[in-house]
Amino acid sequence: MFTTDTALQKQILSGLDISCLESVLENMPNGIMLLDEAGKVSFLNREFSELTGYSLADLGGLSHYDVVRLIVADAEGAYEEIKASLNLTLEGRTTSAKRKLHHRNGYEVPVEITGYPVRDSSLRTRAVMLIWKDLHADLLLKITSTINSSLQLSDVLKNTTTVVVNYLGLGSNAVFLLDRKMNGLRLISCNLYESEEDLPKLLIPMGQGAPGQIAQTRQPVYVANLGDEALTNDIAMVGSSAIDKFKNKSSIGYPLVFRDELLGVIAFDAETVREFSRKEKRLFETIASQVALAIYNAQLYARIEHLAITDGLTGLYNQRYFRDRLAEELDRSKRNQGFISLMMLDIDYFKNYNDVQGHLQGDQLLVDFASIIKSNVRKYDIVCRYGGEEFAVILPDCTQDEAAYTAERIRSACEDHEFFGREQQPAGRVTVSIGVSFYPKASTGQDLILFADRALYKAKHRKRNKVECYV
Ligand code: GH3
Ligand code: MG
Ligand code: MG
Repeated sequence: MFTTDTALQKQILSGLDISCLESVLENMPNGIMLLDEAGKVSFLNREFSELTGYSLADLGGLSHYDVVRLIVADAEGAYEEIKASLNLTLEGRTTSAKRKLHHRNGYEVPVEITGYPVRDSSLRTRAVMLIWKDLHADLLLKITSTINSSLQLSDVLKNTTTVVVNYLGLGSNAVFLLDRKMNGLRLISCNLYESEEDLPKLLIPMGQGAPGQIAQTRQPVYVANLGDEALTNDIAMVGSSAIDKFKNKSSIGYPLVFRDELLGVIAFDAETVREFSRKEKRLFETIASQVALAIYNAQLYARIEHLAITDGLTGLYNQRYFRDRLAEELDRSKRNQGFISLMMLDIDYFKNYNDVQGHLQGDQLLVDFASIIKSNVRKYDIVCRYGGEEFAVILPDCTQDEAAYTAERIRSACEDHEFFGREQQPAGRVTVSIGVSFYPKASTGQDLILFADRALYKAKHRKRNKVECYV
């Protein structure tokens, strides 16, 4: 905040030579521009250059009109208004307005411009002093709330791009996440690619290329030309046609760190080859810390969400999730006039297995059995632990015959599997009984479960180790 405005103005009003105040003006925290009697730029301070990217060498001697056209956003539309307020200032009034200015580097800066008349002892206006207050704080607030408005990682990434492109006026941004197991960085977002599927599957090793270096040193790295960077490092894996996207663009990357933990790297890309101003860099640093926080929260949320829907022992979905998904998938099948089948599985004589081998070994059997199911169904079938030694599989787009066939494969794989201590089971093997139901025979989720259960009961009655369908 420019607190000495009035003191300064009083000094100027008292007829002091402005040149002796230049060093004071030079160090003011707000941008200051002086216009002479003819309305031409006669002085700009350091903060003004920082704010706009222009120095006295660029603007000195230009008319107020030319300057406005160059640096004020929507200058044409606002010019009449701006001219009127300049006239008021020339008449001796103090005026103030909020505007957006175009930084020379292409991004917009919200500012408040206050105009003061500089008058001599006979109260004749000799100059106009314009004070440009950076309203970045407002922008920061907007940035912070945009980035933190969602707990979903995909939204966080989308919002980050919005901030970078719309609020900062940059061309693009990229986010890499740390893959701890592989000790490298995976590209998870880059708006130079149309869709997520187009993103190249990049894994950049620690220390390699600009992203790897940023991750290793936790220091920002400036890349003068992204095209060269992509070519010289193995990032060239993105494919030669994609290199064009990066040509003649400067970029600066920052580590994404939360509570001393490295989460990834974010890169801010200009649309041309250029330097980044001190102000931009400060903003990037703040954005990086906000993005790190948002990513940390999103990852934590995803872990909690995952815990809430999975069974701790087998890693399969739990019964709660099963019920939700069954309803959802059934609705979908009804809408598409498709099929859906349900399988209920129950391990035979499991009580005996527990009694003979002990509960820990029983637990191990459940884990092994879970992976037998998983390896015998399709990727999009939904495998759940229904409870105890009972499992359920939702098979979308699957007819009863196909489901029975899959069930038979599981039954036979279980029978053949060399489970520890299986010779002590009544049949000399570990076996499973399976009941299958299907839509449209059963028309509600409840019925699908009920009918599969009845079929399972039948399988148990027919000496177990069987697949039965509800007909
Ligand atoms: P059937 O062939 O009729 O299915 O007989 P069964 O012995 O498999 O069935 P029953 O329902 O009598 O016994 C199920 C057993 O599963 C009883 C229970 O102690 C055990 N069980 C349930 N949950 C767990 C678990 O998480 N771990 C272990 N080790 N055992 C479990
Ligand atoms: Mg049971
Ligand atoms: Mg059982």
